[in-house]
Amino acid sequence: MPLYDYQCQKCQTVFEVRATFKEKQEGLKPECPQCQSRKTRQLLTSGLLLLNTKDENSQTSPGCGPNAGPGCCG
Ligand SMILES: [Zn+2]
Repeated sequence: MPLYDYQCQKCQTVFEVRATFKEKQEGLKPECPQCQSRKTRQLLTSGLLLLNTKDENSQTSPGCGPNAGPGCCG
């Protein structure tokens, strides 16, 4: 089950919410664990950014193919 980062708009507390994709699609309204407010917004996780960076690196690496020696591409 994926984790989502949410921030409370009332007290700025950041908390994680565990929800299925189905629950997410139906509109997730997590409650702030600190003040029980439902005025929350989702934060973008840094995981997606890290994946994009990795992709760019592998595309620009020269000399990496089926005949590359050991140690190539890490
Ligand atoms: Zn709060």
